[in-house]
Amino acid sequence: MSELDFKSLNLPPQLLENLDQLGYKQMTDIQAQSLPTTLQGQDLIGKAKTGSGKTASFAIPMLTKLNPRFFGIQGLVLCPTRELSTQVANEIRKIARYQPNIKVITLCGGQPIGPQIGSLEHGAHIVVGTPGRIKDHLRKGTLDLSSIETFVLDEADRMLDMGFFEEITHIAGFMPNERQTLLFSATFPADIAQFSKDFQKKPASVEVESSH
Ligand code: ADP
Ligand code: MG
Repeated sequence: MSELDFKSLNLPPQLLENLDQLGYKQMTDIQAQSLPTTLQGQDLIGKAKTGSGKTASFAIPMLTKLNPRFFGIQGLVLCPTRELSTQVANEIRKIARYQPNIKVITLCGGQPIGPQIGSLEHGAHIVVGTPGRIKDHLRKGTLDLSSIETFVLDEADRMLDMGFFEEITHIAGFMPNERQTLLFSATFPADIAQFSKDFQKKPASVEVESSH
């Protein structure tokens, strides 16, 4: 068995089968270098370019920790834009198929808030969204982050460029300190280091060059 084989990780057999069906034959570099660590619950800074398979790198530790019988938000992924949030949510849904009834919802600006509140009332396991709209829901009291176990900052450098630093700090204050925080970014300007200091505990750091 190759060290790039998903079978080298201690994953549930149904998840392995689903990854196989999705055509995920081998781990990408970022997956192979981060999953052994993140599956132990450790925080991570992952530096990798677009197309390197970052979504599965955070979705797998998030999903394997999740309690499907508890309809509370256990995973939160912040993304810079609505398009990226939609892509990430769809990718998580595909990977989550091995367990029935995992609900992943997107909360982004530029969309009516009413249906989002309705979805939250029905209960969900994972939220993917943009910082501004997540903050709106927290202000309204329509989003409860007190059961978060996995917090993901995806494309963190772009979120900082877009001026989301304060929103993200505000959002993090609604989550338990006992959680896993995974930060992904294509570049590492100084403010990312500050971000990591503010939100992470002893993160492992992984950097990959190529996309595969
Ligand atoms: P990134 O967030 O790094 O830009 P994505 O997570 O969106 O990358 O993945 C890029 C594409 O690669 C997606 O279409 C995804 O389904 C696919 N992919 C991810 N991991 C694997 C893998 N191990 N094997 C095959 N395809 C993969
Ligand atoms: Mg991505």
